[in-house]
Amino acid sequence: MTLISPPKSLDQLTGQEIEKKAAIGKIVTYTIGNLTSTYVKEGFQWLLPVVLSQSTDPLWPDPNASIETRIEVDIYGKPVRTMSSMIVHKLIAASTVYPKLFILAPNIRIEKSDRGKTGKHIYEFTQLDFEIQNATSQNVFTTVENALYLLIEGLKKDMKETLAAINRLDALPTLELPFKIFDRADLEAKYGETWEDDITSEITQPVWITNLPREFYDFEDFTTGKWDNYDLLMPKFGEVLSGSKREYDYHKIIKKMEQHGVRKENYSLIIQMAKEGRLKPSAGAGLGLERIIAYLTGVKHIAECQPFPRVPGIVHEL
Ligand code: AMP
Ligand code: MG
Repeated sequence: MTLISPPKSLDQLTGQEIEKKAAIGKIVTYTIGNLTSTYVKEGFQWLLPVVLSQSTDPLWPDPNASIETRIEVDIYGKPVRTMSSMIVHKLIAASTVYPKLFILAPNIRIEKSDRGKTGKHIYEFTQLDFEIQNATSQNVFTTVENALYLLIEGLKKDMKETLAAINRLDALPTLELPFKIFDRADLEAKYGETWEDDITSEITQPVWITNLPREFYDFEDFTTGKWDNYDLLMPKFGEVLSGSKREYDYHKIIKKMEQHGVRKENYSLIIQMAKEGRLKPSAGAGLGLERIIAYLTGVKHIAECQPFPRVPGIVHEL
């Protein structure tokens, strides 16, 4: 893997660097505006995020997770954690009041310092996190494909000069829908352990990868051992989104939590709702906003898309 040096903070930028940062900023504004308006038009309700909660994503056992510190403090006599994702909140919200929802959710994940040089990791980022009650994986694929198609076509039309200024006008392909779908097990058989990097360097269009063993809330077919979940990989870039059809069966959830050694006391509400049959089937995903913007802008380090870079291992004053 090539190691990427971290970007400068705002006060250190000069001349052309300021111009480039400003151009990326315009792509960020356009992207947030375009994606949120597509989701609203598609009938999603826009929820504002929470930042501290007793229950958050265990990020375990996702083989891609690498967390150095989990932030936990006591407030009002109760322990709360900074949000690593809003998965638990999404499942309960989609099961009750908001059957089709999205959130621009800030996530804090104190990634190990060596991830500061991958160019793909930051320790504070934002997900466009969405969930749809009674949906299938296919519904999620269609939603995401449509949103990304409109985003890229919109950028090419409305942000032509800005894209040209950062040499990205010709780099972005017109998306061909639907995206191809690959099973992780087949890729592993073909490429071995490096399947993700290999397929990322080969593709010229985004692809879906399904059947990825990971957290308890992703749906696993216990008879076949197959997972009904997915990642979206962008060509020459890699993962920008993860999601799944969700588990809602009480016995399966408990079994997986026990298998994974997840602390059930942090998930009593979702367990209780599943037990009472109040957790509804749903499917959803989280699109890493900085990741998709890093792909669109072609920056070397994802933190170049942040006004205040959050590079693992580096803490600036701002
Ligand atoms: P996950 O469910 O853990 O895959 O997270 C959802 C999405 O958030 C990923 O597909 C990435 O696009 C994004 N993401 C996760 N971790 C990071 C990170 N450390 N830095 C930037 N984006 C991230
Ligand atoms: Mg992922």
